[in-house]
Amino acid sequence: MHFSYDLEATLTDEERAAESIIAQWRDRELKDDLYNAVIHDYFANFDKIKNSKVYEILEKMPKGAIHHLHSSAAPNIDSYIGLTYKDCVYFNERERLFKVATNGLEEEGYVRCVDMRRFSSSPEAYDQRLRDFIRMTPAECASKEEHAIWAHFQHKFTLTSDLVKYDKFFRIILRDILLACYKQNVFIVELRYIAGLLMGEERRPIGLKEELEIIEEVYTELKREQGIKEGEFHLKLIISGLKIIGRPHIQSTILQVIEGRTYSNLIAGYDMVNHESVTQPLLYFAPDVLEGKRKDKECLPCFFHCGETHERHNQNIYDAVLLGSKRLGHGFQLFLHPHLQQVVKERDICIESCPVSNLLLGYTTDLRNHPVRYLLAKGIQASISSDDPTFFGYDGVTMDYVMTYVAWELGIRDLKKLSLNGIAYSSVSEEEKKRLREEVFPKRWNAFIQEINTTYAQAL
Ligand SMILES: [Zn+2]
Repeated sequence: MHFSYDLEATLTDEERAAESIIAQWRDRELKDDLYNAVIHDYFANFDKIKNSKVYEILEKMPKGAIHHLHSSAAPNIDSYIGLTYKDCVYFNERERLFKVATNGLEEEGYVRCVDMRRFSSSPEAYDQRLRDFIRMTPAECASKEEHAIWAHFQHKFTLTSDLVKYDKFFRIILRDILLACYKQNVFIVELRYIAGLLMGEERRPIGLKEELEIIEEVYTELKREQGIKEGEFHLKLIISGLKIIGRPHIQSTILQVIEGRTYSNLIAGYDMVNHESVTQPLLYFAPDVLEGKRKDKECLPCFFHCGETHERHNQNIYDAVLLGSKRLGHGFQLFLHPHLQQVVKERDICIESCPVSNLLLGYTTDLRNHPVRYLLAKGIQASISSDDPTFFGYDGVTMDYVMTYVAWELGIRDLKKLSLNGIAYSSVSEEEKKRLREEVFPKRWNAFIQEINTTYAQAL
């Protein structure tokens, strides 16, 4: 049965009317018999999509959660540009690397951004130049081949890494990420987070306890400043290890989950990241994961990246399921494994689908044929996430909803279900889920439907 069929009988006349209004906007702005915005070049159509009423409407739609979002690739790109106005930020154009040095830097190739900006034809031109280093460009994605694209993509994390390591900057970045999500009506943000890198003045390492306290502080301050009521906006961290560094690193990052939980309620569980087609399979790290599960009193909840590959023999989705992964990060290749689809359905495992990421990193060239669309038709559950929106030119997750809304021909029932899945498959407590599902969501959803039927209907 189709993944959202259970909602069919519950839809109100108002919801059906709203569905028709959004579809009319879609047909007017983004798709007709001769034109479809999502099958043309993403970069060329970006402004058109971003400025559409469909985008404006879906930005306001309540979204249960973003399940899959990497912290250093999540802020709006202008958050990074803003940091380059600080005196302590240097950039090496040849290496394409930022460096933060509060006491000055005498290292070959590194020039202070504020100085370079002064020597540029205009500050705007310099900022645009930096933006083009940070985000994926049309030229970098042009090959539409994952290995070629990843060579550029992986470097973006290195390029920005020093900016997010500095605790003062990290606070700004984290606040911007959370605020963008909150403004897009997201209730739960689950951040893939690489812990243990944060540094204070003069590159003083910051311990895990203090690091988690900083995150808690930023989150609490944002809730206070925005007047967010208790239980209406949640942050969770999925501590992530880098597969390329190897097993000792994976073992120590697994221990961060166990140790971190003694300091903070923010930690949801564990994941491992990096380009799946060229790094060790999950099976290679299975002994470390199993050891972590033995040590952890909560049995190390895992949220594994898996199936983000074209390789037929990649077994990571099988191993993710066998290791008890709560959700499947991307799960792109699940369509190749009919038996496993059955298991995923029976165990009620949710796919964290990241459509724009899959498009730009070369996993599909046409979102209408994205495998998750078929899996939804078979009754497998998914949620929508943005993975690395900084590098794709946006923040939050609205762009992914717009792209899938058009490409997958979603109805209001599907949008509602994707949003509710955000809550259902999140790692907040059962009590918090109940509050979100029964109190927060209905109120916001009804207001959203009403707004479509009034504000957006009149303009048609
Ligand atoms: Zn990811």
